[in-house]
Amino acid sequence: MVRKAYQVLSVCFAVLCGMSTMVFGWQDASNPTLRPGLDEITEGRVTATISFLASDELAGRATGSAEFNIAAKYVATRFRGAGLDGSIADGDFYHVTMKQMVKTPSGPVKLLGPDLQSIAHFGILAAGAELFSYDGKIRPIDLASELPKSGLDGVVGGMMTGYAKGARSMSQVVRMTNTLKDAGAKALLLGITEDSDLIGLAREAQEKPRTQSPRSGFAIPVLLVPEIALSAASIQLDIPGAVMSESPMRNVIGLLPGTDPELSKEAILFSAHLDHLGTKPNAGDEIYNGADDDASGVTGVLMLADAFAKMPKPKRSLLFMTFWGEESGLLGSKQFVETPAWPLDKIRANVNIEMIGRPEPGARNKIWMTGWQESDLGVIMNTASLPFGIEIFNHPKHSAMLYRSSDNWSFAQKGVIAHSFSAGSLHSDYHQPDDEWDRLEIPHMTRVIQGLFVASLPLAYGESTPTKSK
Ligand SMILES: [Zn+2]
Repeated sequence: MVRKAYQVLSVCFAVLCGMSTMVFGWQDASNPTLRPGLDEITEGRVTATISFLASDELAGRATGSAEFNIAAKYVATRFRGAGLDGSIADGDFYHVTMKQMVKTPSGPVKLLGPDLQSIAHFGILAAGAELFSYDGKIRPIDLASELPKSGLDGVVGGMMTGYAKGARSMSQVVRMTNTLKDAGAKALLLGITEDSDLIGLAREAQEKPRTQSPRSGFAIPVLLVPEIALSAASIQLDIPGAVMSESPMRNVIGLLPGTDPELSKEAILFSAHLDHLGTKPNAGDEIYNGADDDASGVTGVLMLADAFAKMPKPKRSLLFMTFWGEESGLLGSKQFVETPAWPLDKIRANVNIEMIGRPEPGARNKIWMTGWQESDLGVIMNTASLPFGIEIFNHPKHSAMLYRSSDNWSFAQKGVIAHSFSAGSLHSDYHQPDDEWDRLEIPHMTRVIQGLFVASLPLAYGESTPTKSK
């Protein structure tokens, strides 16, 4: 019954839109023409892919980390396996930029009390560009209250209490250093106790130098010290300068070339961000696995690449890409649109996939598209997917709100029709260590990826061309 109703609807749309050449007949999911693609997208393959991408071994895929680079290599390997062309960027599926990173020195730090006894410290949380030397008093600061706006000088010290767990915690310390610098402070000694929330971070700093982006923004050097150090009347302090280094940041991109002489110059771009938040010192689980955000989207991109590669060659070219640095401000996609490996005015649509693993209650088999009003892409894709049993819709709350929140926005700002597609919810594990792959609804996610595949057929085979509103 339901399928019949859809069939009628589909015919109406086809007539209205002049889509008389629906070669694949996607109103019928059992159409054998679709099978080679659909058969690639199975629950087993989805599970295999996401359970690796969101594994503890990949340590939350932080931009700049060794584990992120392993994840990028995995994506490139999968693109190669699907038979995509990796030569459009640097020849090896990577679209690379060098980015300056700060490596905090591991020492030696000199911290001497008034009797010239060496005081043990936990390590450096942030260092300045140059050696910081100081000989004088420690100015005690109550870090839990409002910080002074002026009148500071030299080294200030205080206990770190009320350090909130979760994604925003480090930015609190960063903000604090900015306020203290404006007030005149030159360095901060942060007192840590064994039961402090920061003890994990302190131990980490003790063991190995930290690497971070210069954007992380500590305004003054920060040394993690035991509480006892703060009671020294005066100190001698030397903190070595941070080491700046260049690290490669990798977008991963593969091409499935189109066959039509004209339409093959145009591309449909399928994308998702590969990075997540990495690890943070917490009392419990320290790994932010980012299964839903956005290993689920990356899994979608990989499955779509496999599926389209098994189909008759598309008329339009298809690009498949993952980004670095989304969580740090859409950095990878911004880099791509500044140095595009494909002319932006020849990208007909960007289908960016974000969080498709955990449906809102009652929203299985439904996909919402951000920025619904900006183009007719949602209508085109829904017309194709609805007969298949997947609805693509305008979410009353999220569609407008989240249009500017993911990598599609970097493309939209350059005039590309670019939207994010989500089949999820802003659940309580969002940006938390519990965003684990075994909390996803794999059957839902698999079905959604199949739906995105079916929805994209009219774009790939040149039967529909989205247009911007207005
Ligand atoms: Zn995301």
